[in-house]
Amino acid sequence: MSRTVYVNGEYLPEEDAKVSVFDRGFLFADAVYEVTSILDGKILAFDGHAARLKRSLDELQMKNPISTEDLLEVHRELVKRNDLAEGMIYLQISRGNPGDRDFAFPSEDVTPTIVLFTQTANLLNSPKIATGMKVISVDDQRWARRDIKTTQLLFPSMAKMMAKAAGVDDAWLVEDGHVTEGSSNNAYIVKDGKIITRHLGSEILHGITRAAVLAYAEAAQMQIEERPFTIEEAKTADEAFITSASTFVMPVVEVDGVMLGDGKPGKSAARLREIYLEESMKQAL
Ligand code: PMP
Repeated sequence: MSRTVYVNGEYLPEEDAKVSVFDRGFLFADAVYEVTSILDGKILAFDGHAARLKRSLDELQMKNPISTEDLLEVHRELVKRNDLAEGMIYLQISRGNPGDRDFAFPSEDVTPTIVLFTQTANLLNSPKIATGMKVISVDDQRWARRDIKTTQLLFPSMAKMMAKAAGVDDAWLVEDGHVTEGSSNNAYIVKDGKIITRHLGSEILHGITRAAVLAYAEAAQMQIEERPFTIEEAKTADEAFITSASTFVMPVVEVDGVMLGDGKPGKSAARLREIYLEESMKQAL
C-alpha cells in the first residue's frame, strides 16, 4: 500500500510526492533532518527533536517553514493516515528550489522545502537486543560541524558499508585517536560502573536520546564521565552501548574483533533501555 507523504503543506500518495531537481537539498545537501520514533502510535521525544531542528536551521541561517505546533500536527496526521503503530517519522527541510544551481544561498523569497514520511519498523524487538552489536573502528572523515544535523550522510553510509563488509553491525568513528560517535548513534563504554561517553561539541551530534539517557542515568545514581575515550579503552571496557532515537539503548559486545566482558549484553545498557522506554513512553505525544 502506498504511503501518504507530506510535501510543502500537502498530504500526497508517495508516487505523487516530488521535489525539484534544482532543490538545494538534492544539489548541495543543503538540508537538515530529524527522525522521531513512534511506539504505540505515539511520538517519542518530540520536543527535543523540534528544538534541535530549530538549532540546526539557525546554525545554517535557514528559514523555518513551520511552527512547532503545526509540525506536531503533521506528525500526528501522518501517524493517523498511515496507520503507523511502530516505526519512525523522517523529516527534512532544505533551503528550497532557487530555480537554478548556484553556490550562493538564494534570496529570502525562496521558500524552504519540507518533506515528512513514515517508516514502519520493529523497534522494540530488534534481535540485536539479545545478542548485542559488533562494531569496527573507522577513521572519522565527516565534515567538522557534526552538531548540525545535515543530510550530508555519504561518509556515514560508507562507514556502514565498511562495517557490513567486515561482517559487523556498525562503525565507531575515530578522530585524533578518540571515538567521536557511531555512524548514526552516540557511543558509550562502561568501566567499573562508570558510564563514559564523549562530551558535547561540534565533533558529535547532540543526541536527543543521549540527553535523556544521561539524565535518567544520573537520576538512577549511576556515575557518568563525559570525556573522549580511545578504541583501546573500549576494548577493555566491561560493557558498551549506543543510543539513538530509533535504537533507544542498544548493547555493543565486540569492538574491532575484541569481545567486551563476557561477550554478552551488559547490565547497565539493559537497565538504561528499560528506564528510557518507560520514561519516554510516559511523555510521548
Ligand atoms: N550521532 C549521529 C551521527 C546520528 O546520526 C544520530 C542519529 N540521528 C545520533 C548520534 C543519535 O541522535 P538521536 O538520539 O537524537 O537520534
